[in-house]
Amino acid sequence: MDADVIIVGAGPVGLMLAGELRAAGARPLVLERRPRRRDVPKAGGLGGQILELLRYRGLLERLEAACADPVPAPRFPFGGVHVDFTDLPDTPMHALPLPQQRLERLLEERADELGTEIRRGHPVVGVSQDDAAVTAEVHGPDGPYRVSARYLVGCDGARSRVRDLAGVGFPGTTYPEVNRLAQVTLPDTVTVLDDGGLDVPGFGAIRPGFTRTDRGLFGLGSSPGAEAVSVFTTEDEATEYDDDAPMTVAELQGSIRRVLGADLPVGEALRLSRFTFQARQAEHYRRGRILLAGDAAHLFPATGVAINAGMMDAVDLAWKLAAAVHGWAPADLLDTYHRERNLAAARTMLHTRAQVALRRGHDPAAEALRELFQELLTDEQPLRRMSALLSGADIRYPMPGADHPLAGAFAPDLTLHTDQGVTSVADLMRAPRPVLLDLADRTDLREAARDWRHRVDVRTAKTGQRPADVLLIRPDARIAWAASLDEPAGTAAPALRQALSTWFGAPDPGSS
Ligand SMILES: Cc1cc2nc3c(=O)[nH]c(=O)nc-3n(C[C@H](O)[C@H](O)[C@H](O)COP(=O)(O)OP(=O)(O)OC[C@H]3O[C@@H](n4cnc5c(N)ncnc54)[C@H](O)[C@@H]3O)c2cc1C
Repeated sequence: MDADVIIVGAGPVGLMLAGELRAAGARPLVLERRPRRRDVPKAGGLGGQILELLRYRGLLERLEAACADPVPAPRFPFGGVHVDFTDLPDTPMHALPLPQQRLERLLEERADELGTEIRRGHPVVGVSQDDAAVTAEVHGPDGPYRVSARYLVGCDGARSRVRDLAGVGFPGTTYPEVNRLAQVTLPDTVTVLDDGGLDVPGFGAIRPGFTRTDRGLFGLGSSPGAEAVSVFTTEDEATEYDDDAPMTVAELQGSIRRVLGADLPVGEALRLSRFTFQARQAEHYRRGRILLAGDAAHLFPATGVAINAGMMDAVDLAWKLAAAVHGWAPADLLDTYHRERNLAAARTMLHTRAQVALRRGHDPAAEALRELFQELLTDEQPLRRMSALLSGADIRYPMPGADHPLAGAFAPDLTLHTDQGVTSVADLMRAPRPVLLDLADRTDLREAARDWRHRVDVRTAKTGQRPADVLLIRPDARIAWAASLDEPAGTAAPALRQALSTWFGAPDPGSS
């Protein structure tokens, strides 16, 4: 075998997966078709629960240090409506203004530091599998060659070749809207109004935010003192275009003219990008030894959610693949990847499809719907619900045999007091290893976990508001099982052993 896992594609998802696999002790090989990192700008930032996970892994500081702009207040567009979480003190929805190219560079740095081999200019053109291995045919710069591994993951984006080669369907909808997003300077001939709006001859005053016309949507964002403004257009177009072909200023100006029916002169473009929306999900995220993650597995019809979903796929999958490679994965473990991440994607699909319905209508009924929706979002409870939904914090994976309310949730970052000092759940999750966190000095449960000590770190601590006696936390920071407060010893120990077997394989009495 040339590697444990072949990763096809060095986008954010493939690179995150590579780092997580290395950190879990597996040997990935990344094959990327492009000879160099791409220079077409894509996402301007990332948001959602992945930021919390990156913090747990000790990576968030590095990402924050690479942001040129200050972290913005938590305000997000939602189907043409603005959702403002600034008054929610503990919103789980945050954003990091880190352009995708920089994110990829940092994820690659991490993968490099951990010793990952990344081959650029090596497109995968064929994939085959048998009972023992999966083989990729590659067109390398020095000619075609083959590599084999135990598993192969297609992180090769929306038009995934791996998905096609594995015969996995990708049903769904392509919407006719084309969106163009730019950051541009404005020449002196443009009149900027006191509120940051613009006076556009032939159209009139344009306020910051969204302006609807009967031909589409125009968005304007500006911050005081900034040298550039953000300009956004959406219009229905039947044309197909190549995502890799860079957008031009002329293309932006043409779109503004069509939407506003007037010209807006623009100066220098600091950023130009365009995108369309699709709502699609792969029918299976796994076919034998071949798996899919990120855009190869799902496309959502709204902005700001795809990288969160894709990188969380990588985090869910990595430790399971590493377990399979190390030979201790329970029979069903790899299939839980599809179940869990498909469920998470379905939740993201729900709110992104709802955004399509909200944003597409141009008639008074649609205006009324948006206005009502906006009004509801001034109340705390709907805001809380929305914050959990957008970040992914409301997703609970099914955890067989675990009925504690925290089962399936992302582990909260509790402050922990131990004999060695103060620590936290985040500190315990630096490495992708399972942790049994004993918060009530439950010797019976620590004893029950003895036969898994080689795989599961056991920690005893005290915390302010104990949510459970014991938490069993998977490497992806999901709570696999929890003992209720003061749960009787007789029932908890067998349930814990069952959960340990379900997630971390057969017990090994000789290990402790
Ligand atoms: C203009 C624009 C703005 C966006 N804004 C946001 C945003 O604000 N927030 C957000 O979350 N998302 C945003 N997205 C979406 C985000 O960019 C994608 O979700 C993200 O890139 C998906 O990551 P990925 O790793 O799954 O796939 P990709 O980033 O597409 O990476 C796939 C990689 O696989 C490689 N590859 C493909 N085929 C092969 C092959 N056969 N062999 C080897 N390598 C191959 C490709 O070259 C590529 O490097 C935006 C997208 C666009 C276009």
